[in-house]
Amino acid sequence: MAFDLDKLIRENIKRIVPYSSARSEYSGEARIFLDANENAFGPPVGSEFSRYPDPNQSELKNRLAEVTGVRSSQIFVGNGSDEAIDLLIRTLCRPGIDEIMICPPTYGMYEIAAATNDIGVRSVTLTSSFSVDVETVLAATTPQTKIVFLCSPNNPTGNCLPSQNILDTIAGFDGIVVVDEAYIHYADELSMVSRLDDYPNLVVLQTFSKAWGLAGLRIGLAFASEALIATLNKIKPPYNVSQAAQEIALKALDRRDLFEQAIARTKEQRRFLESALVRFRCVEKIYPSDANFILVRVSDATGLYEYLLKNCIVVRDRSRARLCEQCLRITVGTEEENKELLLTIEKYETSTVY
Ligand SMILES: *Cc1c(COP(=O)(O)O)cnc(C)c1O
Repeated sequence: MAFDLDKLIRENIKRIVPYSSARSEYSGEARIFLDANENAFGPPVGSEFSRYPDPNQSELKNRLAEVTGVRSSQIFVGNGSDEAIDLLIRTLCRPGIDEIMICPPTYGMYEIAAATNDIGVRSVTLTSSFSVDVETVLAATTPQTKIVFLCSPNNPTGNCLPSQNILDTIAGFDGIVVVDEAYIHYADELSMVSRLDDYPNLVVLQTFSKAWGLAGLRIGLAFASEALIATLNKIKPPYNVSQAAQEIALKALDRRDLFEQAIARTKEQRRFLESALVRFRCVEKIYPSDANFILVRVSDATGLYEYLLKNCIVVRDRSRARLCEQCLRITVGTEEENKELLLTIEKYETSTVY
């Protein structure tokens, strides 16, 4: 497939000269900063956040480059992955003309980001085993289809897409393929980040919101070719990642031991939940998970959902999603939380007449 990024990027985006923020215009040894209209007398609380953050997130990107084995110029840091998804769509898709392709059931934000930008959405449902029907996906693309979104491990189904499916889609498509790896750290599959140099049309999304445990900080990552990353950086809001977020993410990266410990505990609890859930009469199917949640088909999803909610336990009712009829998506909790969940389902079963 002939891939030409320059042809793919919208003309108006190509014409943009990047906004030059105060802090990125000078070079040399600065000591007194009277360039950005910050308050020299400081905030009412603390003072570590009185200055604008580094718009290039250089320190964080350099550390991420070490950790992931890519160049820091191949990394975009965003205010959550959601910002990367939105910027990718705005970079490549012309409102009212272009479209994206998604493979439902999948993460809802691709569609929302497309809709807010007046971008059409084509969809090819996953197969019954939740893999990608590559031929059908490729055949359903049009010259206006600029991005195919694949999610692996997929939300809400929990499985990794077969890596050959992903590679065939990338190789067979002349637009961008985004592989959303929000849950990759829980999976045995390798990240597609190592394939970036083989595929100029590949974008990999990761996040600090899941295995890194920092959802409240809002840090999402996009890994891609230097040319595409440079374009995302050009159009992002200059200070899109806060100082606090950059600092805490750096600290987190230094505690890989604790990160891996939490992943191990999550997987152990996932196995525990799977083996316990299987014994309930109301549980009809437990889908295999490579993530920190489990998709479960039950006899009455809405009934169980509401019963759990009455007992102050909230899970996700996915029963309206394609291929997910009567399915709940349950996040793996702590040992105590999972035990309470199981006790509550047991109570539900004894109080429900079949
Ligand atoms: C949770 C999740 C994300 C994370 O989004 P953030 O904006 O980084 O918090 C991305 N993709 C998928 C599929 C998710 O489930």
